[in-house]
Amino acid sequence: MLRIECPCCGPRDHDEFRYGGDASVARPAHDDPDPEAWYRYVYVRNNPAGPHREFWQHVSGCRQWLIVERDTRNHTIASVGFARKMTRKVPA
Ligand SMILES: [Zn+2]
Repeated sequence: MLRIECPCCGPRDHDEFRYGGDASVARPAHDDPDPEAWYRYVYVRNNPAGPHREFWQHVSGCRQWLIVERDTRNHTIASVGFARKMTRKVPA
């Protein structure tokens, strides 16, 4: 079972959380007219075997949005922080 250390509530089972998607995707500027940029933002995702930044919401607890850095190979969690305080990494 995956356990996530919520900064507000402490360690909890992942059943209390909702996965919110890839946190490494950079959103285009609001007025970006390039449809290819919006296509990549909405539909194109990597499927990494290794460290991955993900949005999770603690829906059965404090309802905070978190960014979890999780290794997809073994589910080891390297860090958890509030999404509102962490800047997004822009993929290279
Ligand atoms: Zn919480």
